Amino acid sequence: MKTLAIGIDIGGTRTKIGLVNLETGQVEAMVVAPTETKDGDRFLHGIGEAIGQFKVKAATEQSVLAGIGIGVPGFVFADGTVDSTYGFLEFMEDYPLAMKIQQQHDLPCLLDNDARVVALGEAIYGQGRGFGRVLALTLGTGLGIGFTIDGKLDGLLPFAHMGGHMTITTNDFVCYCGKTGCLESVVSGAGIGRIATRQGWQQKYPNIPLTAEIIFTQKNSGSADAKAIVEEYIGYLKTGIDNYVNLYAPDVIVLGGGIAKGLRATFGKGEIDKLHNPSLLNPFKVYRATIAISELEEQAGILGSAALFR
Ligand SMILES: [Zn+2]
Repeated sequence: MKTLAIGIDIGGTRTKIGLVNLETGQVEAMVVAPTETKDGDRFLHGIGEAIGQFKVKAATEQSVLAGIGIGVPGFVFADGTVDSTYGFLEFMEDYPLAMKIQQQHDLPCLLDNDARVVALGEAIYGQGRGFGRVLALTLGTGLGIGFTIDGKLDGLLPFAHMGGHMTITTNDFVCYCGKTGCLESVVSGAGIGRIATRQGWQQKYPNIPLTAEIIFTQKNSGSADAKAIVEEYIGYLKTGIDNYVNLYAPDVIVLGGGIAKGLRATFGKGEIDKLHNPSLLNPFKVYRATIAISELEEQAGILGSAALFR
């Protein structure tokens, strides 16, 4: 008999709700709904319809539905209460999300930090398969970080999910966390915008919208200005990765999020490993880090949330 779980990925604008085959990692059905950020009841209603559909589907095909896993952009306590989403989901401060979902849908509900579940998804179903120590970096709206060892998250609670706020430059951009020069403030989508602004992109190209995607596209079409922005960006990312190697000694570093797609086009096949400098002193003698770009892409969060039930 097939075992399924529902995985929910709460994103900045869209929430993805998927029905996942836990054995194969196949997303058998998916619904995308706008993310409700202000009202808890409206949020629950928005995801509730898809959950109801998936329960019917699982029952009709006589599959086991293990539960509902959710990746939340914030800190999650062991009792399923969400502590802080840093103002992103206004209703979700000290919010008993898991209990509410369990009560409404009569299914177990497990929560974890969104970047951590991405790491779990990559470790079990993605580019982390076959590796022991998997570090996943999500280069998107912010910088998400998650770490797994032998297919399991590094501990019950997401204590290290703030690892993107590692100081990488001095006297630089002020980050919303209160520090200056955080890795997140230069390698996120907003970060590449900051670098571009500092390099005078808008003055030169007032009619080209400034997004990470456009900078990478322009770079790949031969723009020297875009190339300089991407080079500065990659410099920070490399320094960050070298630091994470020292902290985590990952066997593989999986890069995901919107910017990872831009990096895929920037580095030729087999070249992405250049994001780590192997000539530095290694964590141990035969250490070698592999760097990979996510192929699960947008499904990593859904798969990882569902995989909380494995
Ligand atoms: Zn910061």
